[in-house]
Amino acid sequence: MKSDKTDFIREIINNDLKEGRYKKIHTRFPPEPNGYLHIGHAKAICLNFDIAEEYGGKCNLRFDDTNPTKEELEYVDAIKQDIKWLGYDWEEREYYASDYFEKLYDMAVDLIKKGKAYVCELSPEQIREYRGTLTEPGKESPYRNRPIEENLRLFKEMRDGKYPDGAMVLRAKIDMASPNLNMRDPVMYRIVHTSHHRTGDKWCIYPTYDWAHGQCDSIEGITHSICTLEFQDHRPLYDWFIEQLGIHHPRQIEFARLNLTYTVMSKRRLLELVEGGYVQGWDDPRMPTLSGMRRRGYPPAAIRKFCRNIGVAKTESVVDIELLEHFVREELNKTAERRMAVLNPLKVVIINYPEDKTEELEAINNPEDTSAGIRKIPFSKVIYIEKDDFMENPVPEFYRLAPGREVRLRYAYFIKCVDVIKDKNGDIVELHCAYDPATKGGNAPDGRKVKATLHWVSAKHCTIGEVHLYEHLFIKEDPLDTSGPGDFKDNINPNSLRILKNCRLEPSLSDVKAGTVFQFERLGYFCVDPDTKGNCPVFNRTVSLKDEWEKIKKRKIKE
Ligand code: ATP
Ligand code: MG
Repeated sequence: MKSDKTDFIREIINNDLKEGRYKKIHTRFPPEPNGYLHIGHAKAICLNFDIAEEYGGKCNLRFDDTNPTKEELEYVDAIKQDIKWLGYDWEEREYYASDYFEKLYDMAVDLIKKGKAYVCELSPEQIREYRGTLTEPGKESPYRNRPIEENLRLFKEMRDGKYPDGAMVLRAKIDMASPNLNMRDPVMYRIVHTSHHRTGDKWCIYPTYDWAHGQCDSIEGITHSICTLEFQDHRPLYDWFIEQLGIHHPRQIEFARLNLTYTVMSKRRLLELVEGGYVQGWDDPRMPTLSGMRRRGYPPAAIRKFCRNIGVAKTESVVDIELLEHFVREELNKTAERRMAVLNPLKVVIINYPEDKTEELEAINNPEDTSAGIRKIPFSKVIYIEKDDFMENPVPEFYRLAPGREVRLRYAYFIKCVDVIKDKNGDIVELHCAYDPATKGGNAPDGRKVKATLHWVSAKHCTIGEVHLYEHLFIKEDPLDTSGPGDFKDNINPNSLRILKNCRLEPSLSDVKAGTVFQFERLGYFCVDPDTKGNCPVFNRTVSLKDEWEKIKKRKIKE
């Protein structure tokens, strides 16, 4: 089967199928459980699972759990939840590199027997020293030519716990003069007396990534082992191990990792943000993690579309975060119901409206989706509008409410500002307006026009909520761009989170389910936070309404 889409990876796969190198396509996504998944991982997940699906093949989930010192069960569970949320299913194929420790050990013994691996007692510093540089060949270890029997005995004793951490390692015997440093007798096993979250204390030697990865791929019958560019120089080693062992040979293909503006992507740095308290956790809505994006209200479909849209390439580049936001808006525009909410309330008294009257006005839930239906919103004598929607001395471009000026209240009436009430400091505390009963529904029978439509809520009926507004977590497009002695944390945006406590929400927002996203008219998309308690809902702003992407694209094309 051939995919409809194309890129250099799918070209390679098409060719492999044509030449009969593989009959069925089998990929894998191999996270290391040492942190939460981020949007970069989403790119790899979509790529691997999509390819499997397009070719009628399979994609495994394999935890690359070879480093017991940094890995935890919490991460395994979070990773599984995130992949499911993103919309992918590994079915029963949930594997762990640690499942293969015994097999990997046997394969290592096999290499020793073939004279292709040896136990080396150089210290880590000496190994580094002996390795040489890009311009100088390395030096052979004095332990390199140990007899096979001795290697077998020592390796067994390493496994049996006879030696302390760092006393010796198992190395592949390849070529200390290779121009590729990865081929200069790379380390295959280290002694680490640490419990593993799955194998407990069964092992005190742990395989390196280079040794474990390709063999795990081979054991699982993977055909295309897709990884990021930094492994390009490891490919000869990947191939060497497999050829020496004479086992099923997957093809490793490298692609450029995703980088996003205003975003740090490495798990090490994200962990620093979490542990240093710079954010409230891995799922803080400012984090580029999938759990952060979920909490922020990003729909998984938008993330998938984004990943497919950026495609795959062989050279590193940086994608504008506005492109991701563009896909988020596009998706939410179709799915999110509209509501009215006033974030910075200004009281408005409608002087000619009856004191105790309440009207139920009809509002459309989603103009993009008629099946979403309509709802009723109460209107009464005292309402709130947005502070920003009034100017006592309006500047030329300001068309909203001002003294003597008429505007439309969404779904309600035209109102005209007749008086501005101030406190003793001269701050505006409320407006007095007159409404025109003939404009019910929002149009004047005499055809007169207004230049602005404002959102509002009824003071008597509204509910109070908390709204969290976000900006980019970093002030610089490239957060790693630091001058002076500091690091990326110096580029954290001090205004990345703003909390508004006294927002007034239309009554239908008093009872909402965590994770639901609404469009607050004129303000953006907002997602109900899981920490919402009792009757004070908390909303995270997912994204504002203004789409900057087209503008940025045009600028880029010009450049
Ligand atoms: P990080 O550098 O963020 O710690 P990693 O590569 O060490 O990431 P792994 O858990 O080892 O994280 O990655 C699992 C898979 O996801 C790998 O195949 C890796 O190549 C891929 N991946 C990680 N980061 C990105 C990224 N930014 N873009 C695309 N793929 C990525
Ligand atoms: Mg890694």
